Amino acid sequence: MIDPFGRNMIDPFGRTISYLRVSVTDRCDFRCTYCMAEDMTFLPKKDLLSLEELDRLCTVFIEKGVKKLRLTGGEPLVRKNIMHLVRQLSRHLQSGALEELTLTTNGSQLSRFAAELADCGVKRINVSLDTLDAGKFHQITRWGNLGKVMEGIDAAQKAGLKIKLNAVALRDFNDAEIPELMRWAHGRGMDLTVIETMPMGEIEADRTDQYLPLSLLRASLERQFTLADIPYKTGGPARYVHVAETGGRLGFITPMTHNFCESCNRVRLTCTGTLYMCLGQEDAADLRAPLRASEGNELLDAAIDEAIGRKPKGHDFIIDRRTSRPSVSRHMSVTGG
Ligand code: SAM
Repeated sequence: MIDPFGRNMIDPFGRTISYLRVSVTDRCDFRCTYCMAEDMTFLPKKDLLSLEELDRLCTVFIEKGVKKLRLTGGEPLVRKNIMHLVRQLSRHLQSGALEELTLTTNGSQLSRFAAELADCGVKRINVSLDTLDAGKFHQITRWGNLGKVMEGIDAAQKAGLKIKLNAVALRDFNDAEIPELMRWAHGRGMDLTVIETMPMGEIEADRTDQYLPLSLLRASLERQFTLADIPYKTGGPARYVHVAETGGRLGFITPMTHNFCESCNRVRLTCTGTLYMCLGQEDAADLRAPLRASEGNELLDAAIDEAIGRKPKGHDFIIDRRTSRPSVSRHMSVTGG
């Protein structure tokens, strides 16, 4: 569908697609228990799109109306030469075609890359952090080191990057710690967003044990804090409250308890060039073949239009004891959350 204003990615439900998330690698230097199995099989390197191919694909999306681009993974900062891609993409910020270039990271490599990210025009980033307790951090990430992440957060703030912390709310793991995490984040000028676990990919743990509906977390926070709903939006699905006691913002992302698909503006590209039109559905389109089939972008353009034309209305995740298989077979590291 082409709209009269020249933005040309509109799905069958009238939603304009202006946000592309790109998983630049499925590999990660952590093994978070709710995200991955410990012995993950990763894609062979030969199947990956080159950085030049990723740049070409992103550029076509920007020409088709994408205004916000987020690099994710796996861990985006472990992809070899990732800063080359960031530097290349930053030309679209300079031209004004792209409004925001950002990334989601576990923070482990930030102390190396923060200054260069800022220099490329990245203004804010999301850092995933589920606990401030070094022992629990190691337990949940299996391989992570909290000290390294803290160094990364320090370096990013020093470089002038705004940080939003993302914490997955896990029953009996970090639910009691969320107030402390929030006070810490707000004390350092960072927003905090809490996320419900989604049933994506086989993991060793039982997701029913991990799952915590955020309605329960909110009710418990309201016994200690004054939360006021605010209309603040960052282009994502989070709903925000202002916390009177800390003066900061707290976001809730509730894919399980509250479906927010009616305002979905995004699609997701994997590092092999597969486009997923919904995080919670299997519908996908291969963009690698049309990308490689010709030097011009006509085939790619047509493949993207065809894919947007079948973007699903929404997801329907289920976590309960009768449903032992994940709703979506791929792990979050394939499409990057
Ligand atoms: N490595 C980067 C990071 O840690 O932010 C980017 C990729 S990671 C897959 C993106 C986000 O997805 C992280 O905040 C992670 O906690 C979250 N995540 C992973 N698996 C999830 C699941 N099953 N349900 C909810 N969030 C999940």
